[in-house]
Amino acid sequence: MSTLWLIDIDGTVCEDIPNETPELFKTAKPLDGALEKVKELYANGDRVTFFTARTSSHSEDTEKWLTDNGFPYESVCYNKPRINYGETYHWVDNRNVLATFVPEGLK
Ligand SMILES: [Mg+2]
Repeated sequence: MSTLWLIDIDGTVCEDIPNETPELFKTAKPLDGALEKVKELYANGDRVTFFTARTSSHSEDTEKWLTDNGFPYESVCYNKPRINYGETYHWVDNRNVLATFVPEGLK
């Protein structure tokens, strides 16, 4: 059975760029190991959707960056609610959910 991975972008697969400096999205540096991990997920038959606090107004630069950097993906979900440092995402769902905290990025 395959898994649908919802993967954050900033600080998870590339350097952490806040929405206040969108001009940096185009030249974001990929984090070591992130591309290899996403490719590994696809090789295992899993699916990937990027889930980001970037807004849909950043879709062109975001999707071009993902494609130019070789990331396979199914879709990008924008407008993830932003939280402050010290706050926590807690997802409640009637379907199975696993969450993984990757403070050093996806590897
Ligand atoms: Mg992030």
